[in-house]
Amino acid sequence: MLEIPNLAEQLGLGELYLKDESSNPSGSFKARGMAVAVSRALELGLREFVLPTAGNAGGALAVYTVRSGATAHIFMPDDAPDVHRMEIEAAGIEIEFVDGLLDFAGQAAAEAGEKHGWFNMATFKEPYRVEGKKIMGYELLEDFGWEYPDVILYPTGGGTGLVGMWKAFDEAEALGWVSGERPRMITVQAEGCAPVVRALRDGAERVAPWEGAVTSAQGLRVPSVFADRLILRAVRESKGVGVSVSERDICQAQKDLAEHEGILACLEGAATLAGLKRLLANGQIDHSERILLFNTGSGLKNLI
Ligand SMILES: *Cc1c(COP(=O)(O)O)cnc(C)c1O
Repeated sequence: MLEIPNLAEQLGLGELYLKDESSNPSGSFKARGMAVAVSRALELGLREFVLPTAGNAGGALAVYTVRSGATAHIFMPDDAPDVHRMEIEAAGIEIEFVDGLLDFAGQAAAEAGEKHGWFNMATFKEPYRVEGKKIMGYELLEDFGWEYPDVILYPTGGGTGLVGMWKAFDEAEALGWVSGERPRMITVQAEGCAPVVRALRDGAERVAPWEGAVTSAQGLRVPSVFADRLILRAVRESKGVGVSVSERDICQAQKDLAEHEGILACLEGAATLAGLKRLLANGQIDHSERILLFNTGSGLKNLI
């Protein structure tokens, strides 16, 4: 958890923080989910996994499977950035490239898994990745001295982070660790793929698939959201909203964090700063609030 005082001052804010997930073992917070999912799968006697990925989840699964002597089969869109291919192949794992988006890779992975008996590690298709992500919720409470911030801005793809943190808050309250009003959970997506933001705006019960998803923030390029009801419920219960941001604003925010705070955030994490600026401008976040941004990975992955 870092204070980001220079940007706070520029934006006229009292309290602005960034939870920095970039130093996880595979350079993104996907490691949190995979560490738990792989450990639990091994305990249960599973040794061969399959996963569709936009990149970071594949990198995380690769490191944990290799270290544990298990095997992974990874399905990835063929237009994914090279850095993800390099990271997975460096661990000696072969990638099945598919000519389509992540939802298409998801179908191909599920079919291959069925056929060969590989356990499917796809987002929310097994129960333990979200348990790993949940720890981010405990940690932020600890960092704030067992108090809630007012607002959390989170870059949302498949939604494990949001849903996991919401679960952490349920548990922390049940344990008597924290009380008071929960933060508003703000889901930040890219304009080129914003199915959750659209569903929130329209008051929809389900998240409809997004056609022609495009964004350089790969973690947000999730056109079909499997756990849509859980995500919508968490955001609505929190009295949160959705906000979508342009590619230009994401890049500018990445630059701002690097130039003013020395933090090279990933594009997904930078999107939360872009989202904050929009919500300050339209009055949905107040300048006096305690605000927490999430940087979900290292910007080094955007440099290759
Ligand atoms: C996967 C990913 C996201 C989206 O995470 P969810 O919790 O699945 O919504 C955000 N940022 C990065 C860097 C990612 O890899």
